[in-house]
Amino acid sequence: MAHSKALLVLENFIGGKFVPCSSYIDSYNPSTGDVYCRVPDSGKEEVEAAVKAAKDAFPIWSSKSPSERSQILNKLADLIEHDLEEFAQAESKDQGKTITFARTVDIPRAVHNFRFFASSILHHVTECTEMPAMGCMHYTSRAPVGVAGLISPWNLPLYLLTWKIAPAIACGNTVVAKPSEMTSVTAWMMCKLLEKAGVPPGVVNVVFGTGAKAGEALVCHPDVPLISFTGSTLTAQRITEKSAPHCKRLSLELGGKNPAIIFDDADLSQCIPTTVRSSFANQGEICLCTSRIFVQRGIYNEFLKRFVTEARKWKTGNPSDPTVNVGALISKEHLEKVRNYVKKAQAEGARVLCGEGVDPLPLPPGNQKGYFMSPTVITEVKDDSCCMQEEIFGPVTCVVAFDTEEEVIKRANGVKYGLAATVWSGNVGRVHRVAHRLQAGLVWTNCWLVRDLNLPFGGMKASGIGREGAKDSYEFFTEVKTITIKH
Ligand code: NAD
Repeated sequence: MAHSKALLVLENFIGGKFVPCSSYIDSYNPSTGDVYCRVPDSGKEEVEAAVKAAKDAFPIWSSKSPSERSQILNKLADLIEHDLEEFAQAESKDQGKTITFARTVDIPRAVHNFRFFASSILHHVTECTEMPAMGCMHYTSRAPVGVAGLISPWNLPLYLLTWKIAPAIACGNTVVAKPSEMTSVTAWMMCKLLEKAGVPPGVVNVVFGTGAKAGEALVCHPDVPLISFTGSTLTAQRITEKSAPHCKRLSLELGGKNPAIIFDDADLSQCIPTTVRSSFANQGEICLCTSRIFVQRGIYNEFLKRFVTEARKWKTGNPSDPTVNVGALISKEHLEKVRNYVKKAQAEGARVLCGEGVDPLPLPPGNQKGYFMSPTVITEVKDDSCCMQEEIFGPVTCVVAFDTEEEVIKRANGVKYGLAATVWSGNVGRVHRVAHRLQAGLVWTNCWLVRDLNLPFGGMKASGIGREGAKDSYEFFTEVKTITIKH
């Protein structure tokens, strides 16, 4: 493809230096459809160099005290925060998300990830037990594992990458990270700050490129004993197969098909705007987004009417317009995939109440070729429809009615995924009861996406293996040893 002037060209970051690559891939601005950036198309050779740099840096970094590492992480957080606006602009342009979302969610959370793990690494204690009759005591010690392979998706680029880098290096590991080939820019910008933050060369290496080439080379590398992956369930299956011969430690954070269960005693004035947000925030491109809404029959019609009215208030358009709520989807192919789900639902007899194919979507002249879809609400859809079973990962949500608590639990659990759920009810006994029976790693009642990073994050069933969080990430990124002393 012919390129216009002034393309941004990224380079891999290996051993503390930016290194050009022999081949590149195009990266698009989703809100205009233009190629604006070239991303290294790394493969085995680049991954090999990055793993070597990480291995070389491991003895130095792992021997630093937690408080020394903590200071460096805090410094890095300060530097990213100082450039917050620049990072937010870049994330919005690269991913298609609104500038408001990037400013208020993505980049602040990336900063917080470093601060959070800089603090939490100072507060872990190991275990100790005594066996007086045997004259023994036992205790555990933990040590970093080595070179961590970190693979992240395109929906929350810097947010999710730093959610891995921060705990990995706080624990004393060195890393080779591979961000999504579709959203590589903010990771590259972060690399420019590492030296100033005091991160020694080789501690954080970033190799850009596709999953098939760069990702698999990392997964198959014998000197990378652990892989932390966030992405689709399909890719996780491939990673599991490819890493099996090496018996690698895996953390897998995968897709979801998250239900919202709305009982007839729910406070709809809170529930409706929050459920619109949980369905359409970041264009519905968050693994935690709601995509199946079960509403108790007595309030179904009222809910649907008010929900559609609220969804229509969400403005879709140019992501850099601060009044816009829904930006562009990540790619032309993804937009097509999401549209196809809507078409399939219609072919099955479902009704589309707003959004795709129903409401006009006027776009500014510069965004005519962008990948936009406005919030779309589908109803009269069966539980076994692909729209109710598969992860769509776009601004599409289905609303259906239910009668009893028993019934809705069964239906909510009737998918292969088990990541997140929300329950809306004023009955405290019921929210506890339902929360316990839902097959989901995270259940929010009367709210959505309220997180304490200390607590475990992750999914069950096809939504993942393992958990992330203060203690969980510490355990994943360290090797434990039990030592017995006889006195
Ligand atoms: P994806 O699986 O296509 O890609 C994720 C990453 O894996 C990318 O960096 C990609 O290049 C890489 N990859 C692809 N094939 C690979 C291979 N064979 N070997 C190694 N690496 C490979 O996912 P995506 O489309 O980028 O992201 C969307 C998915 O991520 C959705 O399913 C979403 O639910 C999920 N997700 C989950 C969470 C969570 O915390 N559970 C968070 C965000 C996104």
